[in-house]
Formats: sequence, structure tokens, C-alpha cells
Amino acid sequence: MKYGIIICPKCTKAKICELHFKTTRCFRCNKVIKLKEIRILYKDNSKENLQHILGLVNAEMDGKLDEFTKLIN
Ligand SMILES: [Zn+2]
Repeated sequence: MKYGIIICPKCTKAKICELHFKTTRCFRCNKVIKLKEIRILYKDNSKENLQHILGLVNAEMDGKLDEFTKLIN
């Protein structure tokens, strides 16, 4: 899989990252996130799919994230 959706541990926003990198930088809070240390919520080769899911994740962030990750796992 080429891309993944992760949650920034600092600002708790979901973002898309490229999984072949070891780290990714959060564009909101500028935190460098080590991909090994966090959970990848969803993986896909299609960035378009992930952008769709990202929208859903960010829409569901208000206390419903656990519920949501159960649905997509
Ligand atoms: Zn962040």
C-alpha cells in the first residue's frame, strides 16, 4: 500500500501520508510524526479513495473515532 491515513498525536487531526517514508510532518501543527509509532487507520494505493475516507474521518472525529475505525478495519 502506498498511502495511509494517520491521526496526528499532537493536534489529533487526520491526514494522508506516504507509507514509504519513515516520518511525515503534520501540515497543521508542524509536528514530525514517526509512522512506526502510531496506528495507520487505513491503507490504500489510491490517494483519491483516501481523500474520501479522510473527509469521513475528520467528520467523525468528535468522539466517534473508535466507532469509525471499527467500521473501516
Ligand atoms: Zn498535527
